[in-house]
Amino acid sequence: MLSSNEAYAGGSSSDRIDNNKSSQQERGRRVELAATAPAVIERFRILLTGAVQGVGFRPTVYRLAQALRLAGWVRNSGAGLEIEIEGGAEQLDHFLHKLKAERPRAAVVTTEEVSRIAPSGGVWFEILPSDENAPKTVAVLPDLATCSECLRELVDPADRRFGYAFTNCTLCGPRYTILIDIPYDRPNTTMRSFVLCPACRREYGSAHDRRFHAQPNACPACGPRLWSVPEQEEGASAVAHAAEALVRGQIVALKGVGGSQLLVDARNSAAVRRLRERKHREEKPFALLMPSLASVFEHCIVSPPEEEMLVSQAAPIVLLRRKTECDLAPEVAKSSPYLGVMLPYSPLHHLLMAQYPFPVVATSGNRADEPIAIENDEASQRLRDIADVFVLHNRPIARPCDDSVVRLSGGRPQILRRARGYAPLAVVTARELPRVLAVGGHLKNTVAIALGRQVFLSQHVGDLDSVESRRAFERAIEDLCRLYRFEPKLIACDLHPDYASTQWALASGLPIVQIQHHHAHVMACMAENEIAAPALGVAWDGTGYGLDGTIWGGEFLHVLDDSFVRAAHFRTFRLPGGEKAIKEPRRAAMGLLYEIFGEELFGMKELAPVQSLTAPELDLLGQMLRKKINAPVTSSAGRIYDAVSSLVGIRQITRFEGQSAMELEFALDGVMTDESYPVRLRESGFGADDQQSPLIIDWEPLMLALVHDLRSGVSSKSISAKFHNTMVESIIAVARRVNEKKVALTGGCFQNQYLAERAAQRLRNEGFSPYWHQRIPPNDGGIALGQAVAAAQRF
Ligand SMILES: [Zn+2]
Ligand SMILES: [Zn+2]
Ligand SMILES: [Zn+2]
Repeated sequence: MLSSNEAYAGGSSSDRIDNNKSSQQERGRRVELAATAPAVIERFRILLTGAVQGVGFRPTVYRLAQALRLAGWVRNSGAGLEIEIEGGAEQLDHFLHKLKAERPRAAVVTTEEVSRIAPSGGVWFEILPSDENAPKTVAVLPDLATCSECLRELVDPADRRFGYAFTNCTLCGPRYTILIDIPYDRPNTTMRSFVLCPACRREYGSAHDRRFHAQPNACPACGPRLWSVPEQEEGASAVAHAAEALVRGQIVALKGVGGSQLLVDARNSAAVRRLRERKHREEKPFALLMPSLASVFEHCIVSPPEEEMLVSQAAPIVLLRRKTECDLAPEVAKSSPYLGVMLPYSPLHHLLMAQYPFPVVATSGNRADEPIAIENDEASQRLRDIADVFVLHNRPIARPCDDSVVRLSGGRPQILRRARGYAPLAVVTARELPRVLAVGGHLKNTVAIALGRQVFLSQHVGDLDSVESRRAFERAIEDLCRLYRFEPKLIACDLHPDYASTQWALASGLPIVQIQHHHAHVMACMAENEIAAPALGVAWDGTGYGLDGTIWGGEFLHVLDDSFVRAAHFRTFRLPGGEKAIKEPRRAAMGLLYEIFGEELFGMKELAPVQSLTAPELDLLGQMLRKKINAPVTSSAGRIYDAVSSLVGIRQITRFEGQSAMELEFALDGVMTDESYPVRLRESGFGADDQQSPLIIDWEPLMLALVHDLRSGVSSKSISAKFHNTMVESIIAVARRVNEKKVALTGGCFQNQYLAERAAQRLRNEGFSPYWHQRIPPNDGGIALGQAVAAAQRF
């Protein structure tokens, strides 16, 4: 790995593409100062950082400077976009204003520095070649959905890109998934093997063209091509072939932007069932690709901010409330009032949907829990037993990027899975961080690097259970480090000794800092909301390794300057069978109820979890709980959700992670009540070290009242609502005791929309300031960010 000082040693490679300097270094009209020359000439130096390259920023600046008759230059550097601009004060003012207002749509500006420098008396405005000496900190742009201009060309029979699946421009197209190295120039992308034809070269070289320096620029004459397998059809015929397969109810594997997608007609029950069987995915809802907004409106209830997310250039999967009567196969998303929907985001999607204008299931091209397949051989091999027809192309994918998942939470977009369209945009921190590599958790893994005041978070890698996903994890680390010439000084990882990421960190030979799981969650939430300590973090999830070696997960952490105090947690209970309890909510229920009822529990046959277990199973569970064998202790809020889901008879065994809690949330749909069960806070006294021990939230009164409701025949809908409200009231109770104004809500449990929104609302009513996740997932996909920030504090 190179150090930052060596960054850019390779230099900008744009010259290798187009040696015609005059086209790159385009000169403006001579600035005419004579008649209207202002009395005072000033010169500003402007540095914009963030995702500012490859988005058409230089032509925009050029155009603005021309219109205002200003002199100077603009260029890309390793740090971002640099501008020097000179002219009269009033004109400069206009320029600065317009620079903000007329920013290219795809640009993401993270910082803007303007300083006054001495005028140099220039009379031209120029676009200069890239500066090769600055260190590499420029943000890499995520992939962008096809823009309206490109779409127009795609469907225009007179256009030379009519029906061409790889159409793009500076406003749209692949970025992160084709990037091999920084700076973002064509020879540093997977487009390097395609030689531009004269027409494409002209567009690429002209500052007045929409495709000026559009690195993936291509046309049917010079760019990538498409074909189908087994019938070797090319281009439009390959798309037609895929559409016919969908009509027949077959499964199509489509090599897309960030990897393969598996498509099947979403209205065809038998076809969707077949996909489930072949993919080994029993019940987890499938995402849908819908041909148009009109089609989305037909199937879902869409609010204006949700519509905005759908049509945004990130083009994520948006979780939308489904309409009751619809023509979709029930197998798409059983028992969920939501559908995950996206709109076509690549020219290939648009071409396919034009031929097959119906909703299709569009799910990652993998077998359950494996990473997404990206290369042609890999896809054909790994998806051989799943897909009937393949649509492949010869534009290599530099790194896998799944479709991102977003929902509306508390009126704002919240990313649940962060990949295509968002990765690797940086989170800017309040202070400079040392060079930390954070390797994340074990589930929903992402990794991050801290560079100056920016933390770059990788795309979603996934669960690190398989050899393939661990390889993908290692590649994600190598990839980020190589792109930014990053040499970590230390590695931040979880405390859990069994996480694959922790083991990788321990084996790396570099200094490591182990960050407690929930502390990382809270720091991630604070970092993305740009709030400083002190704050109260509410970190609720399924499982996280605690400082005392037990399983934490219902935590209230009082974050002070560079440390935290465990202010409160849920009363602990045992999970008979350990890991097995994660898949069987009834085990969590048995462990929790055993604390209350003891041996009596096994005779309470009217309770759903007891009922669902056979006599030998009950016997075994009893022994584990009595003898405290293979029954670890936990304070997990996620497991309390599981226990209640089991108790009210909603789910005894789950088919995918988080299912029981999701179904418990769905159960309260339509219930409007402020009723709750009692909350009891207990002091746990002083610990051995004379430190004040955490407050305990005792769920016993809650459970007793809940069991009473069950026996009185109260509906599971009402019980679910009252239970959710009680969980929120426990937050209020602790917040009052800790008396800290800022409250950060984080952890997988806060993917529960009712819980998150009600907690924020109640906290506000009580005079607190609630914060929650938006750009970074509340689940373990966000902890790499928290690890980086927390580790930096200890360094
Ligand atoms: Zn475009
Ligand atoms: Zn061409
Ligand atoms: Zn977690």
